[in-house]
Amino acid sequence: MTTVIGTQGLTKRYGQLRAVDGIDLDVRAGDVYGFLGANGSGKTTTVRMLLGLVLPTSGSVQLLGEPMPRAARRVLPRVGALIEGPAHYGHLSGRANLALLDAAGPGGSRRTRTARVDTVLEQVGLAGVGRRPVKAYSLGMRQRLGLGAALLRRPELLVLDEPTNGLDPQGIHEIRDLLLDLHRGGTTVFLSSHLLAEVEQLCTRVGVLDRGRLVLQDQLATLTAPTGATIVETPDPERVRAALDGRVLRVGAGRAVVRGDDPAEVNAALVGAGVPVTGLALERPTLEEVVLAAASTSADRVDAPGERSRR
Ligand code: ATP
Repeated sequence: MTTVIGTQGLTKRYGQLRAVDGIDLDVRAGDVYGFLGANGSGKTTTVRMLLGLVLPTSGSVQLLGEPMPRAARRVLPRVGALIEGPAHYGHLSGRANLALLDAAGPGGSRRTRTARVDTVLEQVGLAGVGRRPVKAYSLGMRQRLGLGAALLRRPELLVLDEPTNGLDPQGIHEIRDLLLDLHRGGTTVFLSSHLLAEVEQLCTRVGVLDRGRLVLQDQLATLTAPTGATIVETPDPERVRAALDGRVLRVGAGRAVVRGDDPAEVNAALVGAGVPVTGLALERPTLEEVVLAAASTSADRVDAPGERSRR
């Protein structure tokens, strides 16, 4: 797998504070990579370093195989970026803003350029309001315009800082569909988010930042792989315990968790013993459980809260 974003020991210090603390990112071609972290964990600082907007205190960054920020001029035209608070000219329309940005791009005839702007307005759901001045746009519309700007050059890689920030549920849904479409078309997507559910629904690979440290990085499917247990839904969980003595790991309201990763076998054993079963599923950890476990492990490993700046 080709590495599209790689960092080694990437660190940013602000005075005594290590905003980003020695992270090794590994984003591969074809990933939708979710970069998760609480507010203040260092996501924006990392994204800015990836794009060469902030210089690392130490460590290195490669974007599309080239060293950043040294190769910025060569690499950035192949990357679409959206970082906090996209800047637009408020008195100009969304269309005019995109046309201005497009003018710095690959060029082409007037017709080609108009078509490119139209396509992007359509993609981000602003076709109907493209002629209105941006100062009349909602936050969500501005965010979509920012995403449109990132798409003008048909980038191989999209780097998005909190792309659904400020969007209503409908807007979030549209952006998610758009990103999945782009991904199907071959674009690698790196997005930061503090929303677990968003990352769980959209991403193939996950990195978790906790107070500047990367405490987890893996494929989503690996992180949420079956645990080897089966969840039995039943009106009478205690009878599961009686029937499968020694295999019951936990009993809860209307459910029992049983050792074994073959629901059909568990079902046969319970039905044979006359236990009513209303549902069966392989147990999987949620991303939330995985993230909480990783974050608490790191809290044990590193200093107490408030001590971070003195390491
Ligand atoms: P949010 O989700 O709130 O945007 P974040 O994960 O993007 O948070 P960063 O904005 O990267 O986090 O900030 C990480 C830490 O670095 C914070 O403690 C922040 O206050 C600090 N920080 C960021 N930029 C600077 C700066 N220019 N000078 C000093 N401290 C900074």
